[in-house]
Amino acid sequence: MPILKKSPKDDAKKRPEAAAPAPAKKTAQPLSLLRGMRDLLPPDLVYLRHIQAVIAKVAQAYGFAEIETPLVEETALFARGVGKTTDIVEKEMYTWDTASGESVSLRPEGTASVTRAYIQHGMLNMPQPVKFWYTGPMFRYERPQAGRFRQFYQAGLETIGDADPIVDAQLILIAHLVAKELGIESIVRINSIGTPDARANYKNALVSYFRSKRSKLSEEDKKRLLKNPLRLLDSKEPGMQELKAEAPQMVDWLDEESRVHFTRVLEYLDEAGVPYELDPYLVRGLDYYTKTVFELFATSDDQELAQSAICGGGRFDGLVELLGGRPTPAVGLAFGLDRLMSRLKDRQALPPVVEHADVFLAQLGEMGRKRTLPIFEEFRQAGIKVGEAMSKSSIKSQMELANKLGAKWAIVIGQKEVLDGTAIIRDMDAGTQEIVDAKKLVHEIRKKLGK
Ligand code: AMP
Repeated sequence: MPILKKSPKDDAKKRPEAAAPAPAKKTAQPLSLLRGMRDLLPPDLVYLRHIQAVIAKVAQAYGFAEIETPLVEETALFARGVGKTTDIVEKEMYTWDTASGESVSLRPEGTASVTRAYIQHGMLNMPQPVKFWYTGPMFRYERPQAGRFRQFYQAGLETIGDADPIVDAQLILIAHLVAKELGIESIVRINSIGTPDARANYKNALVSYFRSKRSKLSEEDKKRLLKNPLRLLDSKEPGMQELKAEAPQMVDWLDEESRVHFTRVLEYLDEAGVPYELDPYLVRGLDYYTKTVFELFATSDDQELAQSAICGGGRFDGLVELLGGRPTPAVGLAFGLDRLMSRLKDRQALPPVVEHADVFLAQLGEMGRKRTLPIFEEFRQAGIKVGEAMSKSSIKSQMELANKLGAKWAIVIGQKEVLDGTAIIRDMDAGTQEIVDAKKLVHEIRKKLGK
């Protein structure tokens, strides 16, 4: 109890609703979001959490355990893991030096970190494969556009320690199933980029072909030709479509092992009834992929949306070794949650969240107001959803809010009730009231609610 002595009369004094801010001398400029960043407001989060819950449910059913890695890692992890000459590492990372001189980066994707964790925690010695799923924000300093943000959300699945093509197919099936469970019909675009050796041979063939067409290439594509020729295949520059049509195709350069692997993956997909299209130009932007690469597209989208994949993945048999572990095959995928969210939101796939309370806790005067804090907590512990407006003085506005929240019962605590050790329970529909012992308040309400 406060030591301050007060007469009960003080309680009746009207309190100002809120302290008025002191008049500002100069109006401060409002600060706004950085480009490519956005706030996820409560209605957005309803969608995001729903999507994450669906992915968690499917992932767990298929034996994936959740993992969470830090948002910040040593820059070298991504330089080595994702690849120095990839767009992500060259241009899109948020990188800085810490006070102790380490170069660190915000994670642009999840696979490199999960693989680091697998090696660091000695999971090479556990029964294989080890299957993880994760979700969280990723950061890429990309040019913002529809469905492309600088902080975006992914959920990923990784199966580490299994070379069997059925594992590739299982992941692709999961991608398809998750989309389906979210009400999105989808199609897989799939390709094989072979082993590093086969790809090196293919790259040479591609470079000779595009060198012969050099005069027709844009400046950007000329750079790609020098640094990362495979990226020419997903170049969207004008005129590339015709050039690509004549270019050598990876499938013709696949090594025997990759060809057999790819055929098996496709057979499993046929068996599981997953619709797919072969896409000879699909190479994906990350260096660590080997053999199978795929992306998932929604089939019912409008033109603009249809161009952006909702999920991407592939096999990365070289990554564990590249990051210092022993050679270990692996395959994974990542869903783009922002794109899934915008599709569900456009369709208003979820009902809007309506705020609801079982009972409303109203108060009158300072004495009554003070009691509401412990009473509210009693109800919370009893698992009863209570609405309140503790800072409001007017009983009328409190009753209006009680109605808005759909509360069937309101509790009113005023000075008299505090002094008598009672509480008023009001039936909001009938407008009748009864007085109960304050100690039995939760019990009485529970009875009325049938809980
Ligand atoms: P990636 O890690 O590049 O293979 O991307 C996997 C999925 O994440 C893509 O299919 C997209 O749906 C999503 N994604 C990638 N980059 C972005 C971005 N900048 N903004 C929103 N979603 C993205």
